[in-house]
Amino acid sequence: MSNSPFKSYITTPLYYVNARPHLGHSYTTIMADVVKRHREQRGVKTLFLTGTDEHGEKIEQMAKAQNRDTRSFVDEVSQDFRATWEKMGIEFDIFYRTTDPKHVRAVQHALQTLKDREEIVFREYEGKYCVGCERFLTDSELNADGLCPDHLKKPEPRKEANYFFLMSRYQKPLIEYLEKNPNSVRPDHFRQEMLSFLKQPLGDLCISRPKQRLTWGIELPFDSNFVTYVWFDALLNYLVAMGWPEAGWNQELWQTVNHLIAKDILKAHAVYWPTMLMALGVSPARELQVSGYWLVDGTKMSKSLGNVIRPLEVEAQYGKDTLRFYLLREMSYGLDATFTLEGYINCINSQLANGIGNLVSRVYTIAKKNLGTVAFSNDELLEADHKVLALRARAREAWDAGFAELKYQNSLKAWSELVTACDLYVNEMKPWALAKDPNATQRLHVVMGVCLRMIQALAALIAPVLPHAAQEIGKALGLGERAFDPIEAGFEDRVRFELPTETPKLFMRVQMPAPESRSEA
Ligand SMILES: [Zn+2]
Repeated sequence: MSNSPFKSYITTPLYYVNARPHLGHSYTTIMADVVKRHREQRGVKTLFLTGTDEHGEKIEQMAKAQNRDTRSFVDEVSQDFRATWEKMGIEFDIFYRTTDPKHVRAVQHALQTLKDREEIVFREYEGKYCVGCERFLTDSELNADGLCPDHLKKPEPRKEANYFFLMSRYQKPLIEYLEKNPNSVRPDHFRQEMLSFLKQPLGDLCISRPKQRLTWGIELPFDSNFVTYVWFDALLNYLVAMGWPEAGWNQELWQTVNHLIAKDILKAHAVYWPTMLMALGVSPARELQVSGYWLVDGTKMSKSLGNVIRPLEVEAQYGKDTLRFYLLREMSYGLDATFTLEGYINCINSQLANGIGNLVSRVYTIAKKNLGTVAFSNDELLEADHKVLALRARAREAWDAGFAELKYQNSLKAWSELVTACDLYVNEMKPWALAKDPNATQRLHVVMGVCLRMIQALAALIAPVLPHAAQEIGKALGLGERAFDPIEAGFEDRVRFELPTETPKLFMRVQMPAPESRSEA
């Protein structure tokens, strides 16, 4: 495994198949794709894992409610996720499914190992059981009258024997790990949140469900009357994908792992997962990156509100890459953000259609019509040319700093400023006037050359976020597809551009849909 070409490892959560792909799933998946492309442009080959989490009570109940066989139900939803990411051009390397027999064997191995080491014990548990929900409810889940909020019935006290992972043993090592590793959970307010949660005594984790309640799960290797709690099963995927527990599993790549999640599953990833790894003798993840929620028009997305955003539908309607750009621009990483159709359309028009789209089409049209091939030498550059070209390196620095600090909005802002700078340069140099002056032809070559170098750099920077557009720009500049790997290719000071005849098609302006058709959007 040490001859693996990969130098870094990034994951999304395995998405639970109780819902179809929506905006929240899309954001995390897009972020992982953007980060992978960004790293690979800089020569760091990155393994990208995504997939589906397919066991548990909710899944069994949903299949039953639809009168479906559980297996075919999970196959269908899992395929929906996979096909959605493929159609969106997400370049994942592994699509992981927790119903894969290899995963099942590895989870059973982990359970047996922990049982043998007496990290798992059998214990009677007394709690408040709701018959309607078929599960124990915690006090915080009950309403003000102490009733199940869904069934409006008082849960009955019930005793049940279960297996527990002795997570409480790892409270101190976990606190130490979080304290010693400032990047263990980012942005930092989530790390602080976990540290303050850990001021209370940490309980043990119930990792089994009796089969009389649930059969759709991984059977405990040491007791066939029980299946595994879905979180204990699912989290192990990240490690099993590295070849664990086989001899020679890729420990080197594991050291680089970077989990991307949204804050709803923070505790599972910042508490359960590192303590499970510690108990298994594996070092915890290097970095957990946590995003906030996407609200839609200011409220939480829900099926009943009819405001669930489906990524493929909006991309089909509003153009490729546009959702990626909008989501990155709109969310301050780690905080909640609101999706609005107005904001999305406004962003497409002002940033993409009127911004980069208009710039590329303007420069291409003048250069193609008047010159065809743009050729000049560096000696011909004037001070104003050098000045605008120097902005490229600054934008690149700001772009990379944004990625390092998880402040993606800063990266996009620096990029937009570079678009504006190039627009201003065009306005000042008036190439349309140069084109009319027979004595200014060579100056027109230089001005167009400067613009094409600027566009080259703009495409290279934005390529991880707008891969299709970058490809189109690469073709329009006569550089071919995937012209901006590595990133340096975008900053090469070319002195000759042979422009192909095909006019680049980038971003079109879009209209706000009429009110009656909006609910379908
Ligand atoms: Zn209930």
